[in-house]
Amino acid sequence: MFRRLVFLGPPGVGKGTQARRLAAEFSLAHISTGDILRETIKQNTPLAQKVRSYMERGTLVPDEVVLDLLLERMRQPDVRRGYILDGYPRNIKQAYDLEKAGVAVEVVVYFYADEETLIKRISGRRTCRLCWRVYNIYYDPPKVDGRCECGGELFQRSDDREDVVRARLTEYEQKTSPLVQHYKGKGLLCEVDGGGTPEDVYRRLLQAIEAV
Ligand code: AMP
Repeated sequence: MFRRLVFLGPPGVGKGTQARRLAAEFSLAHISTGDILRETIKQNTPLAQKVRSYMERGTLVPDEVVLDLLLERMRQPDVRRGYILDGYPRNIKQAYDLEKAGVAVEVVVYFYADEETLIKRISGRRTCRLCWRVYNIYYDPPKVDGRCECGGELFQRSDDREDVVRARLTEYEQKTSPLVQHYKGKGLLCEVDGGGTPEDVYRRLLQAIEAV
């Protein structure tokens, strides 16, 4: 089983949900640059304000800012057992930054789904304020409305609003999708159909990474 993975795919495809599950099952560090940036913007610093302005518009945060935060996270001891990079790299420059920094990548899992599915998944997404568990009001609703199983309150990410979602999808098409060819060329790409339930996708994910 690979222990150094990159998860690639459009917003809403379910990368985060799958990464969290695979990481828990195989004791890997789940490193989501989106989560790191969301933590960053909670602080009252000039950096937080700068990052927030990009995220609110659905555009990518500047490469050097994300790289610094990522490398700081990569220095934590839990990373030694293996990791899943979820949401990084997001453009070709970041892929080269990763190589330059000596971060190993054994396999890149590319999740795909049609645009209608992506939009419904994102607009239905609700996240727990306490444990960050992600639900979907259409596909994976919480048992109690608005509440996570841990008791935390569920909220909708401000960048999951429809106008911001469209901007994120455009940003993905223009900047991130060229990474599919980039990693295919390197023989690292493994493709997983992101349609259906989280269970379906997880099953396909396990099959795909075992078959590589
Ligand atoms: P995510 O949770 O992965 O959908 O990321 C949410 C937002 O965080 C994105 O729309 C970007 O604004 C920002 N972001 C996350 N990862 C990156 C990255 N690798 N490079 C630049 N911006 C990022």
